[in-house]
Amino acid sequence: MKEVIIIGSGVAGLASAIRMAVRGFTVTVFEANAYFGGKLTEIMVGDYRFDAGPSLYTMPQYQEELFQLAGKRFQDYCPYVKLDPITHYFYEDGTRLWAHGESDAFAQEVEDKLGVSKTTVALHLKKSAKIYDLTSNIFLNQSLHKFRHYKPWDLLRAGANLGSLDLFRSMHEANQQQLKEPRAVQLFDRFATYNGSNPYEAPATLNIIPHLEHNIGAYFPLNGMHAITKSMYQLAQELSVQFRFNEKVEEIILQQHRAVGVRTALGEYRSDFVISNMDVVPTYRKLLPNVKAPEKTLSQPRSSSALIFYWGVKKSFPQLHIHNIFFSQDYHKEFSILFGKSTLPEDMTIYVNISSKMLPSDAPEGCENWFVMVNAPNDQGQDWDTLIPAARKHILTKLERMLGESVKEHIEAEDILEPRSIQSKTSSFLGALYGSSSNNKFAAFLRHANFSNTIKGLYFCGGSVHPGGGIPLCMLSAKIVDDLIPA
Ligand code: FAD
Repeated sequence: MKEVIIIGSGVAGLASAIRMAVRGFTVTVFEANAYFGGKLTEIMVGDYRFDAGPSLYTMPQYQEELFQLAGKRFQDYCPYVKLDPITHYFYEDGTRLWAHGESDAFAQEVEDKLGVSKTTVALHLKKSAKIYDLTSNIFLNQSLHKFRHYKPWDLLRAGANLGSLDLFRSMHEANQQQLKEPRAVQLFDRFATYNGSNPYEAPATLNIIPHLEHNIGAYFPLNGMHAITKSMYQLAQELSVQFRFNEKVEEIILQQHRAVGVRTALGEYRSDFVISNMDVVPTYRKLLPNVKAPEKTLSQPRSSSALIFYWGVKKSFPQLHIHNIFFSQDYHKEFSILFGKSTLPEDMTIYVNISSKMLPSDAPEGCENWFVMVNAPNDQGQDWDTLIPAARKHILTKLERMLGESVKEHIEAEDILEPRSIQSKTSSFLGALYGSSSNNKFAAFLRHANFSNTIKGLYFCGGSVHPGGGIPLCMLSAKIVDDLIPA
């Protein structure tokens, strides 16, 4: 039986393990941490449970597809529901807007609250759907680096509709021209942050993101986000995948330009194929020290990172929902500071996720688990020990002002995740959340492929390689690796 070694048990590593096991390979996953899931894990802070990383779940069909390969239903392992409403938006001028789960109701709410006609919003979402339809088969569902995988029809359609791909203006420019109203533009610009990009630089092609949330839907796993990786881990175990926790891979063993196994502190392990779910930059720098690395690819700018406060709040806030956004007054300034000056602005857009709204057992009775996140530049050696307490102060002042009530005095438990700890916990280069950034129109082509050009038998999955970061794209990276590995 052929053997495959997987480095890392992030969502893409787990998906790859399941796919390879279904194909009949003997699969071993090496994980540096004592737990599976990578960024998609959970933590306890006092009596409060938190999903540590991702909180917004889209495209569960990729997990469904994965489980079907093993003859199972994902819903049976990880029941989930479609969210409606999805997000409660708070603007500095006092406007409150509910982003409803049904696109029609959402468009109506934008008309009612922001005065942008329902037809304009519907047209905007239709355009998002069109970009997705034109690009997904070329840019997402297959290797971008194997010409034989391209279907002539997809290329012809994309070529004939080049203008619709909206490559040549920024997301912000497109939103500005189509929606005009500043608060509506801000709402749609925000989707750039879903892959750690800057809406004032990223190509408008990324306007496919609202299509995923507002046309297809946002979901919530009834047992929390961590249930996604928990159920994948369970299925992998049922398929006899071996997990070696607390065993960091230190080197990929090469023989005549072929990956033939890995070395850890405990020994050497041989395999026919190696799949790295570790960030591609440290994979080259640390595990392949004697290999000439693809420097141009590895030097692409990284996506933004994040600063997260996990707060156990001894109070209930009925005006808040599971996903809440408190917008900054000046979005352009916020992003100029984040990406231009690589520091934290004073007035930040604050995301407050409260999973206990859906899953009451996440917090003691009458209390709530607040996951409070702001965008942060990736780690370039900033003085985080000064920046973080200052940001905490600004965040609390803003939340208390916009909610009209005290928050600080109700925080009874706290933990923090920030660019440095994201890097140390998951090996993500510079603590970037989504691998390389998508701020330039060639970013998709400059991301590392799912295979090595120079080392046979070595493959890559996860948020730092094609097609990019976020749970759905990580799932696709595992699917592409599956397509690439020969029987
Ligand atoms: P990772 O999660 O990066 O895990 C890699 C694993 O490899 C880790 O477990 C690590 O320990 C292990 N590893 C690394 N090196 C070695 C080694 N040498 N030996 C052994 N093991 C090793 N996405 C969304 O879709 N929605 C969201 O709402 C969202 N929000 C986010 C919020 C935060 C705060 C963060 C951090 C991320 C968020 N993301 C979100 C992005 C999403 O979490 C990631 O894109 C995705 O989880 C990355 O998965 P991955 O497969 O690349 O592996």
